[in-house]
Amino acid sequence: MKYLLVALVLLIALQIWRSNRRKAAVPPPSAKRQLREPEDMVTCAHCGVHLPSSDALVNADQHSYCSREHQNLGPK
Ligand SMILES: [Zn+2]
Repeated sequence: MKYLLVALVLLIALQIWRSNRRKAAVPPPSAKRQLREPEDMVTCAHCGVHLPSSDALVNADQHSYCSREHQNLGPK
């Protein structure tokens, strides 16, 4: 009866050790993170700051601006 109890404890310990090892094998979620596509950078015609083209405000004259205020002030 004593050996059965020892065997049971060893079996439970082995199960815990195996489940911990399985968790460690799973790669961290950051490794699966998708990288964003590179984006074109434009320069603000007023202050010269560089910003992604998707964030820029573009005038009819094809000048890009960082903000509405600089768009109103126009190219420097
Ligand atoms: Zn600007």
